[in-house]
Amino acid sequence: FAKQNGRNQYAFYFEELKRDSKRQLFLEAELRKGIQAKDFNIYYQPKISLDTNEIVGVEALVRWQNDQIGVVSPGEFIPLAEDTGLIIPLSELIFEKVCLDILEWRTLGLNNLNVSINIASLHFQQDNFIERINEILMQYNCSPQQLELELTERTIMKDSESIITKLIKLKNMGFKISIDDFGTGYSSLSYLNRFPLNYLKIDRSFIQHITSLKDKQAIVESIILMSHRLQLKVIAEGVESKEQVKILKEMNCDIIQGYYYSKPVPSKGLMDFLELWEILKQEGKQ
Ligand code: C2E
Ligand code: MG
Ligand code: MG
Ligand code: MG
Repeated sequence: FAKQNGRNQYAFYFEELKRDSKRQLFLEAELRKGIQAKDFNIYYQPKISLDTNEIVGVEALVRWQNDQIGVVSPGEFIPLAEDTGLIIPLSELIFEKVCLDILEWRTLGLNNLNVSINIASLHFQQDNFIERINEILMQYNCSPQQLELELTERTIMKDSESIITKLIKLKNMGFKISIDDFGTGYSSLSYLNRFPLNYLKIDRSFIQHITSLKDKQAIVESIILMSHRLQLKVIAEGVESKEQVKILKEMNCDIIQGYYYSKPVPSKGLMDFLELWEILKQEGKQ
């Protein structure tokens, strides 16, 4: 009986595996086509300074809508793109699209909005990473001064010597460097001292329970204190409520990003948001 049961279970897993790998194969083929057709969109999420109430920048987040299966989340297709190597052409396409938006904003008189771009590990590891992104920026007449690169703890912890060299080079070129999803990896804050960073982004999983769980509160508070000692500005990710903003302000957090202010929106929606923000600020409502 047990044996039969085991076999059913095996059959079940096998079916699931088949279904999963079928989806993966389908997505891989569609990703390939999508990259060729440049069929991706970039959304932008504002970051707000708690000090000045200014919008200090936006994060670029890629979006993909497939004709046959609809919206696929980056949480699904970015890892797949990394596994298949497609992340390289995809990442270059993302840089291109961001540059095009920056050019369009310029025609609207918006010249200095900072944009952060998420960098996948495999992309960053390419020997020609710096040359390639530099080529794209030059092609579109965009400057590194306006760009920030978001790297996760896992990316910078891989092989520190060559990574530090690369980061120093990027920083000297004018890029700002952030560490993304901080707290989800294994690095200690003192270790971060070795890297030339500008910003530290505290992962949403810490912010989520910051108003109810004392231990999360203590962790966030000490991350902020230590970051400031290391001359890093702190960005809180995934802020969804007024209460979270209040407590983060009390903790001296520098910058807030999250649905509370705005979800990621297309370029046009971002322009509307920026305009509205200015009006509200002048009326003293923000
Ligand atoms: P991430 O870089 O940590 O981006 C933050 C994610 O949190 C985004 O999800 C954003 O939409 C979401 N988010 C922001 N505020 C809130 C909030 O208040 N509540 C909640 N629940 N979520 C919030 P998204 O766009 O689905 O991206 C997920 C991850 O996929 C990103 O995490 C990043 O690791 C990766 N990713 C997204 N776009 C790109 C890209 O252009 N290139 C690369 N290499 N990776 C990307
Ligand atoms: Mg990010
Ligand atoms: Mg993050
Ligand atoms: Mg994340």
